Amino acid sequence: MTLTVAIIGRPNVGKSTLFNRLVGKRVAIVDDMPGVTRDRREGDATLSDLSFRIIDTAGLENVHDSSLESRMREQTEAAFLEADVALMMIDARTGPTPVDEHFVQWLRRHKTPVILVANKCEGAAGQSGLLESYALGLGEPVPLSAEHGQGLVDLYNALRPYA
Ligand code: GDP
Ligand code: MG
Repeated sequence: MTLTVAIIGRPNVGKSTLFNRLVGKRVAIVDDMPGVTRDRREGDATLSDLSFRIIDTAGLENVHDSSLESRMREQTEAAFLEADVALMMIDARTGPTPVDEHFVQWLRRHKTPVILVANKCEGAAGQSGLLESYALGLGEPVPLSAEHGQGLVDLYNALRPYA
């Protein structure tokens, strides 16, 4: 069975940037459940000798109605149901926000294992946010810079046990 990994988190933390970095050219647009998965993308990812299916949860950015939270939950839940492990991404430069904390509360009610990923860690700007992210209670964060391709060895080591 292929490992399935979902990237989750609030908008603008860098989920799609990581997705694009990990996925080759075969990206499928999934549009089978309008309003829930319409912006979801999935593809075949490789990280060194690891091959896995990856799901980018992206619908929230383009939704402008009053049910943001339920949309977020629906889309995340759909990805979660298929995932063997989830990458919960935060922005290390801003540190954990109330939205992140809310998200984490919700994640706790699910059995899917969660790896905390602190993105935008290049340079020094992410260091305090990285430390603050321990308070989310998801264990040791994986420091990453999806944009600059830094931290991929740590990400590999975090994912390896699930392969
Ligand atoms: P998403 O909404 O979570 O999918 O986030 P995106 O992947 O669309 O990225 C949101 C913004 O963050 C974009 O402007 C990216 O260029 C930027 N970004 C993504 N990864 C990094 C990173 O590692 N470092 C920095 N500084 N910016 C990043
Ligand atoms: Mg996105």
